[in-house]
Amino acid sequence: MNAPLAACNTLRVAAAARYLVRVGGGAADRAARELAELLAGPRFDRLPRLVLGGGSNVLFAGDYPGVVILPRAGGIAVQEKAESVIVTAAAGHDWHRLVDYVVARGWGGIENLSLIPGSVGAAPIQNIGAYGAQLSDVFVDLQAAPLAGGEPRTMDGAACAFGYRDSVFKRSLRDRMLITEVRLRLRNRPRLNLEYAGVRAELAQMAVADPTVADVSRAIVRLRRRKLPDPHLLPNAGSFFKNPVLAPNDYAQVRERCPQIAGAAVDRGYKVPAAQLIEACGLRGRRFGRAGVAERHALVLVNHGDASGADVLAAARAVEEAVAERFGVRLEREVRVIGGEEGPV
Ligand SMILES: Cc1cc2nc3c(=O)[nH]c(=O)nc-3n(C[C@H](O)[C@H](O)[C@H](O)COP(=O)(O)OP(=O)(O)OC[C@H]3O[C@@H](n4cnc5c(N)ncnc54)[C@H](O)[C@@H]3O)c2cc1C
Repeated sequence: MNAPLAACNTLRVAAAARYLVRVGGGAADRAARELAELLAGPRFDRLPRLVLGGGSNVLFAGDYPGVVILPRAGGIAVQEKAESVIVTAAAGHDWHRLVDYVVARGWGGIENLSLIPGSVGAAPIQNIGAYGAQLSDVFVDLQAAPLAGGEPRTMDGAACAFGYRDSVFKRSLRDRMLITEVRLRLRNRPRLNLEYAGVRAELAQMAVADPTVADVSRAIVRLRRRKLPDPHLLPNAGSFFKNPVLAPNDYAQVRERCPQIAGAAVDRGYKVPAAQLIEACGLRGRRFGRAGVAERHALVLVNHGDASGADVLAAARAVEEAVAERFGVRLEREVRVIGGEEGPV
C-alpha cells in the first residue's frame, strides 16, 4: 500500500490505497480516455477501482487494495435560455462553490443544497438532498466514462434511477463509471422552497421579509453551521444513517415505545428521523473509544482524535444494535464503508 488516504476523507481516518491517480485539467472526455488507457495497462488492469471526490461520504475501515481515482478537473459552463439556465459543472468542482456561483447570479434550484461538502461528480451518487430539495429536482443529465474502458455516455435522470439518497451508481453501476460532468437546469425566475422546518424562522431571524435565492442560501448555511459539526474541526462524514421508512404497524410500535418520535407520511409508510431513534437510545454525545456520536447531532458519527476506521465502524455498529434492540428498526448506512472486515471494497 503506497498512497495515504487520511487527507482524502473527512473522517480523517488513516488508510492507504495501492495506487492513487489524480485526473485533472483539460477536457473531461479526453482526461477520461487517457485514464481508461492507463487503467488498461498491465500495472492496473486487474485491480479494483474506486473514484473518490472529497471523501465526505465514505469510511475507510481498512486499506484499499486497488486504484483510487481522484477527479480534480473543475469548471462551470453556462447556457442561458428564456425560462431557465443550463449549468454544466465538471466533476472535480466543489459543490458548494457551484451553489455560490449560481446563487450570486440569482439562479434558483440548488440554494437549499448549500454547504453540502464534496464534489459535483459525487452529487448524483446518492442524489444529494437537504431542506426539502434534492439534486434530481434540477438534474438534466451527466457524462460518465466506463472505468473498464469504452465510450463515455450521457445519462439522464431515468438512467440514473434516482431515489432517496440513492441512484444506479450505488447499485448495478457501483464503481463502474467515472462521472466527469453534471448538467443542471436552474430557474432565472426562481421559485423558493421555504417549507422545510426552520427555514422561514431563520429568514425571520435574519429580518428578511422578501427573500432572494441568496437569502435562502445564507439561511441554510446558518442553520447547517449551527446544527452540524464542522468536519475541519471535528472530523465526520455527515449523516451516517438514512432515515428509515417504516410500515404503518412498525411505526405504531415505535410510537408506543417513544411517543415523541414523529415521522412523516410517505408513499409506503412513515419516514422517521433516524436521529430521533438514536437520541431516544440515549446515544447523543456518547463516546465509543476514540469515535462517537456527535453532541450536536445524533445522526453524525465523529472522530475525536486518532480514531481508526475500525473504531468508527464499531461505533456505527453499537448505534445500529441499540436502535434495533430498542425499536426493532434496522438502520441503513448512508456513508459507504470501504475495506476492513466487511469486505475489501
Ligand atoms: C458535514 C457533512 C454534511 C453533509 N450533509 C449532507 C446533506 O445535507 N445531504 C447529502 O445528501 N449529503 C450530505 N453529506 C454527505 C456528502 O457531502 C455527500 O454525499 C457528497 O455528495 C459527497 O461528495 P464527495 O465528493 O465527498 O464524495 P466521496 O465521499 O468522495 O464519494 C462518495 C461516493 O461517490 C463516488 N464518487 C465520487 N465522485 C465520483 C465520480 N466523479 N464518479 C463516480 N463516482 C464518484 C465514490 O466512489 C463514493 O462511492 C454531508 C457530509 C458531511 C461531512
